[in-house]
Amino acid sequence: MITECVTPTEENLRRAGEILKNGGLVAFPTETVYGLGGDAFNPDSSRKIYAAKGRPSDNPLIVHIADKESASELGSVLPESFHLLADELWPGPLTLIVKKKARVPEETTGGLDTVAIRMPDHDVALGLIRAGGGFVAAPSANASGRPSPTLASHVAEDLNGRIDMILDGGEVGIGVESTIVDLSEDVPTILRPGYITKERLEGLLGRVELDPALSDPGSSARPKAPGMRYRHYAPKGRMSIVNGDAQAVAERINDELSKSGKACAVLCTEETKSLYHGGLIRCLGSRSDLKQVSLQLYRALREFDAEGIEEIYAESFPEEGFGLAVMNRMLKAAGYTVVEV
Ligand code: AMP
Ligand code: MG
Repeated sequence: MITECVTPTEENLRRAGEILKNGGLVAFPTETVYGLGGDAFNPDSSRKIYAAKGRPSDNPLIVHIADKESASELGSVLPESFHLLADELWPGPLTLIVKKKARVPEETTGGLDTVAIRMPDHDVALGLIRAGGGFVAAPSANASGRPSPTLASHVAEDLNGRIDMILDGGEVGIGVESTIVDLSEDVPTILRPGYITKERLEGLLGRVELDPALSDPGSSARPKAPGMRYRHYAPKGRMSIVNGDAQAVAERINDELSKSGKACAVLCTEETKSLYHGGLIRCLGSRSDLKQVSLQLYRALREFDAEGIEEIYAESFPEEGFGLAVMNRMLKAAGYTVVEV
């Protein structure tokens, strides 16, 4: 298969929509990361998405829609909490899980009786969804296990020759995947943290819980978002997060850099980058703007892979607000290796 990489002109969006309607796959930009889309009501399209990504087929897809009303075609029950969140935060980086209607194929929901729904805040994504019939099943457009793509070139790196088209809309805006909230049970529960924070959700809904598997990955608690079970966001090099006072962190990392005979890299910030010597020093942005940091994270991990980096040392970030999502992705990339100094 030849993968076309095109700019999202009106004509190309129309062609992309035809590809989806005919059971093909199109990668597209959203405000979070690039998605790999297929027709959500076509079980063959969902099977093709799993095959292209090398993704286990019990890991469900998110159905992307272009208007809130479309959700009633997918969910058998849309609770009050759904309307509150969708009215306030859609389009946006928020995925809502509700009980599914029978017509949503099990291939799309990984065999679950619930469906994940999101309206992305990106004109190209919304244009593609409308052109493709209104219901686009899409996980992130990376090969399973690699960092999610924040540029069209990342998609091409992983999926060239395996999908029909890539719509190149430039760099995404946030860089980590959507917040996932399960509304299918009594208490709304965050299954995956993202740009829409727990605090924001609590402001709208009152009580909101975090899936216990998020705060204690070592526990036997089984994550409710099947995707959180798999090793995700993994660079090829061995990554450690060093946590503590900035000066002490830099001392420890410099020490490791001087001892190691391997190709090393440091993930640091504007405020701290001058403290490091040795290795490949990659600044993610300012600590005062976590959105900058999140946008650079996956990109930096891919750069390290391309450079053949074998050891990665990363600073940590406070796990509050959006920092919870940034640290969740960093911890997964590091296989939860944290060094306290
Ligand atoms: P991705 O966008 O590649 O991160 O993949 C979609 C994510 O949504 C995966 O982590 C899934 O586990 C999660 N997800 C999708 N549908 C459901 C659902 N019905 N219940 C729980 N998690 C879901
Ligand atoms: Mg993914």
